[in-house]
Amino acid sequence: MAYQSVNPYSGSILETFEELTDEQLESALRTANTCFENWKHTTFVDRAAVVAKAAALMRERSDELARLVTLEMGKLIDEARGEVELSADIIDYYAQNAERFLAPEQLKPSSGGAQVESNPIGVLFGVEPWNFPYYQLVRFAAPNLMAGNVVMVKHAACVPQCAIAFEQLWLDAGAPTGAYTNLLISYDQVNQVIDDPRIKGVALTGSTDAGKVVAARAGQNLKKSTMELGGSDAFIVLEDADLDKAVKWAVWGKMNNTGQCCVAAKRFVVVEELADRFLDGFQAALMALEPGDPMDKATTLAPLSTEAALVKLLDQVDRAVAKGATLVMGGGRIDRPGAFMQPTILANIEPNNPAFREEFFGPVALFFRVKNEDEAVALANDSEFGLGGSVFTEDVERGKRVASRVDTGMVFVNHPTWTTPDLPFGGIKNSGYGRELSSMGIQEFVNKKLIRVTSIDAPA
Ligand code: NAP
Repeated sequence: MAYQSVNPYSGSILETFEELTDEQLESALRTANTCFENWKHTTFVDRAAVVAKAAALMRERSDELARLVTLEMGKLIDEARGEVELSADIIDYYAQNAERFLAPEQLKPSSGGAQVESNPIGVLFGVEPWNFPYYQLVRFAAPNLMAGNVVMVKHAACVPQCAIAFEQLWLDAGAPTGAYTNLLISYDQVNQVIDDPRIKGVALTGSTDAGKVVAARAGQNLKKSTMELGGSDAFIVLEDADLDKAVKWAVWGKMNNTGQCCVAAKRFVVVEELADRFLDGFQAALMALEPGDPMDKATTLAPLSTEAALVKLLDQVDRAVAKGATLVMGGGRIDRPGAFMQPTILANIEPNNPAFREEFFGPVALFFRVKNEDEAVALANDSEFGLGGSVFTEDVERGKRVASRVDTGMVFVNHPTWTTPDLPFGGIKNSGYGRELSSMGIQEFVNKKLIRVTSIDAPA
């Protein structure tokens, strides 16, 4: 059974779900399309009432929504609550700002007048990952519903209860049936949906491999797509950094969501003057993390999302070591029930080691020692990924200069890459294309329609 809730802390199966039949899928597509024909004519004020209500309901249901996240994918309960709060903030942000973001833009051509309108384009399809079971959905749903589109979503197979709870939220907020549709569907049905002429755009957040498959299918159908894919963000520590601050943020940047963030700090690139002291502090802080029940607020080390994720990561670490990397700490499964992995640091990873180019999605840090700023930038850029990154230095102007030289979608100075409703989110290279969040995220799936008025005489 593809859609199954399994508690990664205990290994127990919580619930399994049937996939939709092709007939049920067809019915859902028809309903969504009919819904769009009405929804596109509603005003921003009408839509904002529904969308803001969804944010309020999220906050009201915070305990239950967070509990489902922790049960299904093992996130620490306080982090799960934080995700619910952030998601509600994003929904509110679009309820409040969408009309302004999509206001017609007046142009000043050499004669006459012209404007560009932002019109909704139809039913959109999203394929989403489990690592932030609500936040990922919200980034796609909130701006697009406010833009007058409607959305259908295939969520990850391991978080079906979160997927269903999120769909219910929209219905309870007063969204018409078909405005937000959760689809428990197979990969074949994903292809059918992308091919369906009623679908006008496709968004995927997930791995680069899944992105290539889904983007290719959308491309065959000449449908616009956005791709939010994996990363291997560099966390650069320059010799003038505040070491204590850098170590503390390194631990947060690596271990938030047990390292299962697309923008987790994954490659720690430290200038040699600070390298030994940084590594000592980082290692000591990782050693102090205590595995336990993620529902317990005292736990500081959660399980990975699934047993399969743990097995994959352990294998990646083993292969890295077999190809010459040094295991500084960790590297194994924690000897207790559940999908727990020891916090791990790998060093001496040469460019010919496959690990040099891979994304490690979990509590595994790749440590690199460099001579200076130039070497740090060169190493950061020697990657097929380009999602986030960070630079630590007490000289903020220097930090901005270094940030400009890193080939990536987002760089934070003196903070790991993170997200707020009003900052654009997205990458380049194998990390994808397009942006979510901020005023940019709502522009991806609208028709930028030119309306031109002239009094130019017709040719004689
Ligand atoms: P994943 O395996 O690619 O899955 C993501 C979604 O794609 C799931 O719904 C999955 O369904 C579906 N999927 C996978 N292969 C597919 C295929 N061939 N056809 C149709 N659908 C397919 O990724 P994940 O392991 O869940 O998530 C981790 C990855 O996401 C990491 O690489 C991470 O960096 C990236 N990520 C990126 C961002 C960003 O904003 N850039 C944010 C979060 C995560 P099933 O679950 O049914 O397989």
